[in-house]
Amino acid sequence: ATDTIDLKAHIRGIPDFPKPGILFYDISTLLRHGAAWRAAVSRLAAAIGPHKPDVLAGIESRGFLVAAPLALELGLGFVMLRKPRKLPGLTIGLNYALEYGTDRIEMQADAIAKGQRVVLLDDLLATGGTMAAGISLLRQAGAEVPCAAALIELTFLGGRSRLDVPFESLVARA
Ligand code: 5GP
Repeated sequence: ATDTIDLKAHIRGIPDFPKPGILFYDISTLLRHGAAWRAAVSRLAAAIGPHKPDVLAGIESRGFLVAAPLALELGLGFVMLRKPRKLPGLTIGLNYALEYGTDRIEMQADAIAKGQRVVLLDDLLATGGTMAAGISLLRQAGAEVPCAAALIELTFLGGRSRLDVPFESLVARA
């Protein structure tokens, strides 16, 4: 049954990707497995539901894979936070610091109605920089952010302490 599936067993660590010394957690094996992926979406829906979202948002690109099925599951709409210059029409954006250099995320300026409760999703929380930037951008767009969530959390990096909202995850890796 779905409730006995061990999600950890469906996520593999691939050494030295994208560069030497980094252990990359690969969700491809989870996505490939119908029952495990079903279980992951159900469990995230259960974790997020109590935060009463009006709409979900996902961070390009693996965050889309998480947020879109979850939005269907919860009967909600889904908003894309994208890399620069990908979205048509009027956009707002936010630059944020990486370990080396900076990055930027954008969203459509009219995506969120003021005061809407938006839960932000990604596949994995590492340092929390990406998620923190996403939360700030959603607020800039008028959203209230009651929580953020990801499939996987790298607990040793302490990313959740950089977030000023409750954070939900299904798999912790230390
Ligand atoms: P952070 O900003 O929290 O340091 O990094 C999180 C972002 O980097 C997420 O968007 C996530 O997709 C990506 N990321 C970093 N490390 C990994 C990893 O080991 N596996 C996966 N799937 N994504 C990662």
